[in-house]
Amino acid sequence: MSLSTEITRHELPLEIPFEIARGETVSTTVHVVTVSDGEHTGIGGTGPSPHYGESPTTIEAVLPELCSIVEEIDDPHNLQAIEQRLQTQIRGHPAAKTAISMALHDLVCKRLGVPLYEYWGLDPAESIATSYTVGIDDPETMATRAKAAVDRGHGILKVKLGTDQDRAIIESIREAVPDVIIRVDANEAWDRTKAIRMAEFLETHDIEFLEQPVPAEYPNDLQAVYESSPIPIAADESCIRLPDIPAIADKSDIANIKLMKCAGLREAKRMIHAARAHGLDVMLGCMSESNASIGPACHLAPLLDYADLDGSLLLADDPYDGVPIVEGDINLKAVSEPGTGVSSN
Ligand code: MG
Repeated sequence: MSLSTEITRHELPLEIPFEIARGETVSTTVHVVTVSDGEHTGIGGTGPSPHYGESPTTIEAVLPELCSIVEEIDDPHNLQAIEQRLQTQIRGHPAAKTAISMALHDLVCKRLGVPLYEYWGLDPAESIATSYTVGIDDPETMATRAKAAVDRGHGILKVKLGTDQDRAIIESIREAVPDVIIRVDANEAWDRTKAIRMAEFLETHDIEFLEQPVPAEYPNDLQAVYESSPIPIAADESCIRLPDIPAIADKSDIANIKLMKCAGLREAKRMIHAARAHGLDVMLGCMSESNASIGPACHLAPLLDYADLDGSLLLADDPYDGVPIVEGDINLKAVSEPGTGVSSN
C-alpha cells in the first residue's frame, strides 16, 4: 500500500495573550500533517514563525508540494532521501518541513513498534523539565502570572524582557517567586551597552541565563556581551541551522535549537551534537505550537541541558495529546506505545 498524506488546519486561542519584545499574539494557527501507510498513521504539526518568514499562508502554499514528495518517494524509512528532496526542491519553509519530518518519524516508529526515544537509543529517564514562559506585561501582572505558574508546580520560569520597565519586572517577579529558577529572554531588544548592564543586574537577581540580548544581525555585539556577562548567554535568533553552531561557539554559552527554525528532527539532532562538539550547552525551544509538534520534540529531552517546550501549555485548549508535561516535568517514560505519543483528543 502506498503512502497517503493529509493536511488539517487548527485555530488555537492562547490562554493569555502572549507578548514578547517584537509584538503580541492572541491565537495561533497550526497545520497538522498525517502520513499513512494504510495500517499506521504518523502525525506532525507546524508552528510557523513570522520572524523566520512563515505564516499559515506560506504553510498552505508549500505543504501540498512537500507532501507530494513524500508520496512520490513512498518509503517512510528513507528519511535521508526525503529530507534531501525537501531541501533541494523547495528552499526555506522550516516549519512546514518539520511537520513532515515529525509525521514520518512517528510513522516509522509505529511500523517498527518502538517509541521515538527508543528508536534513537535514548533513555526516557534522562528527560528534563521545561521552563514556563511569562510574556511581557506590566511588572505586577507578570509577577502575578509567575506566582500562579509556580503555584501550579512549575519550578523553572522564562521571563520575556525588552520593555522600558525591565528592571522593575525582574524585581517584582523575584520578590513574588524567590526560590525558583528564572531565565530571561530579551528577543534582541537591547544594544550592546544596555545588554552588558542588564546582564550584571540580572546576576544580582539570581537569573540562570540571558537569551538573545542583542540583534542577531550584530554578531560582534553578541560576542562582546558574552565576553563581559557574569551569567551565561544563550543564542536563539542567532542560531537557526547547523552552520550557525560553529558561528555562535565563541559568542554564547548555550545554543537554543528549535525544530521550527531548523526544518526537522534530523537537523535538530545534528545541531545538538555539533553544539556539544563546540563546547556549547544545548536548549531545545519552541514557537507557539500544539502537542502535535511539541510531543515529537519532547523525545529529544534526554539530549538536552535546558528545555523550553511549553507551547501547548500556553494554549487555552489543545486538540492533540503528546508527551505528558506535569508540573513542568517532561514525562517521556509515560510514552510506552510506538511512535511519538501524539494523538488527537
Ligand atoms: Mg528566544
